Amino acid sequence: MTKGTVNSVISNMVTLRVDGPVKQGEICYIETGGDKLMSEVIKIIGADVYVQVFESTRGLKVGAPAEFTGHMLEVQLAPGMLSKEFDGLQNDLNKMEGVFLKRGQYTDPLDRDREWDFIPIAKEGDVVQSSDWLGQVDENTQPIKIMVPFQMEGKAKVKSIVKAGKYKVEDTIAVLVTENQEEIKVNMIQHWPVKFAMTNYKQKPRPFKLLETGVRTIDTFNPIVEGGTGFIPGPFGTGKTVLQHAISKQAEADIVIIAACGERANEVVEIFTEFPELDDPHTGRKLMERTIIIANTSNMPVAAREASVYTAMTMAEYYRAMGLRVLLMADSTSRWAQALREMSNRMEELPGPDAFPMDLSALISNFYGRAGYVYLNNGEVGSITFIGTVSPAGGNLKEPVTENTKKVARCFYGLEQERADKKRYPAVNPIDSYSKYLEYPEFADYIKNKINDQWIPKVLNLKTRMQRGKEIAEQINILGDDGVPVDYHITFWKSEIIDFVLLQQDAFDEVDAVSSIERQEAILNLVTDICDKDFEFENFNEVVDYFKKMINLCKQMNYSEFHSEQYEDFVRQIHEMLNEN
Ligand code: ADP
Ligand code: MG
Repeated sequence: MTKGTVNSVISNMVTLRVDGPVKQGEICYIETGGDKLMSEVIKIIGADVYVQVFESTRGLKVGAPAEFTGHMLEVQLAPGMLSKEFDGLQNDLNKMEGVFLKRGQYTDPLDRDREWDFIPIAKEGDVVQSSDWLGQVDENTQPIKIMVPFQMEGKAKVKSIVKAGKYKVEDTIAVLVTENQEEIKVNMIQHWPVKFAMTNYKQKPRPFKLLETGVRTIDTFNPIVEGGTGFIPGPFGTGKTVLQHAISKQAEADIVIIAACGERANEVVEIFTEFPELDDPHTGRKLMERTIIIANTSNMPVAAREASVYTAMTMAEYYRAMGLRVLLMADSTSRWAQALREMSNRMEELPGPDAFPMDLSALISNFYGRAGYVYLNNGEVGSITFIGTVSPAGGNLKEPVTENTKKVARCFYGLEQERADKKRYPAVNPIDSYSKYLEYPEFADYIKNKINDQWIPKVLNLKTRMQRGKEIAEQINILGDDGVPVDYHITFWKSEIIDFVLLQQDAFDEVDAVSSIERQEAILNLVTDICDKDFEFENFNEVVDYFKKMINLCKQMNYSEFHSEQYEDFVRQIHEMLNEN
């Protein structure tokens, strides 16, 4: 293996003089005072190699020796990761002694002694390729596939495979013979590089399948799809956490991965304390059983923070290759971008806008591009739905991270301070937010078959009405209540009906917190009926009275169990009121 010696040290940016070949992205360990500091190659100029060190470089001297490993930054993937908490370099945070890892210490991400009930899927003589399924173990309610190592090129024959029984992750469960007659022993552990998109699938079509989240402002108004991408810019206190919890709990996903790249320690602590408490409405158990948290503690050097989103995405790709539906949430991607900025500044690269690296746009789009809905080689499907939050400094949506994310993420859920101040939750701005999937013909077809062919036209109609309502509100603000015709008030109050009945949703009410698609369809139809009616009122006061009463009835309907007697009673009263006018 190639060796090197330290030439210069600037914070955790170190240059090495090397004696052999080195790969971009290769991992090396620098020795200092008995510690081995993990580092990653980020630039190579002849025999001079720039590395970023994932640890503090305090005390590191020029002349210190380094050893290269020949491999990229990678994660170990195996059964036993669910419900765990890792840091960005996949150290198991629960195996740490004390609060923080000491420099040069790493904890094992896997439980090597745990036994799993293995059931073979492949049999002797089968011809297999990279990432094909050899067998399965069950981990908390989820079927975890044991796969052919992804690095394997070409095809191989299964020479032998173990019988169903108890095995540990390091036990050999199959022997493969490649086309070159090379024997490969396969255990349950995969080693995947984190910074490359895994393309071990057959096809990645445009995603089209509605991913139900139970949140109406998403599902009805700006739907996300299985394998889709979205982002949530949110100033502090606007409901980012509440929304993230709601989506994590309710979305139709098998695996939830949370990448917490918070810089403030309390944000990370919040994740560790709140997530394990969450109940799983799908299984009746704890959500944590099918969740993995990747979190950076605030003392971690910037390079490790940068790695964490890649570690999380790679884990998501691992479960997707098993045919599972993965929901990946990163909070916040701004912190990741800040880490990129710090690194690039230390390298004294020519900076792009706001001192972010020149290739920020490519980095963000490559990352979002790893999400998706895929057909695996065996014909099964899997998906990674990715939702990232962005915390733009000072709520400025024109800064580079937000702008570049906007180019690639297909859904935009803008949390708005003004809405949060008015307690209109979720504070997702109904006008600026969007879902590009509403324009996909594949999505329209899916909705036609799954729900009905009027769904999308009705949604678009309500969106136009929201826009119109906003314009009128601005006019009324300037001209006063009596300065505009009564019809204007009616149009405005129709948009308030959409807002109060459909968009606003109480995350803390047992019934209102989650709306099934059937229920959202009922609400969409009802709100459309109200909005499409031609009302006649004498004056402005009549309008306000009428719509306030209507909103009140609708809200009570929303708080009643779907199709219960009480619910049907409110629906009847609403229709009576509609027919009266
Ligand atoms: P952030 O994470 O953006 O700082 P939070 O998610 O903690 O904000 O939300 C702040 C507060 O807003 C919550 O404690 C809650 O009182 C209120 N809130 C946010 N979303 C909702 C909702 N959908 N329903 C009811 N209350 C909400
Ligand atoms: Mg929060």
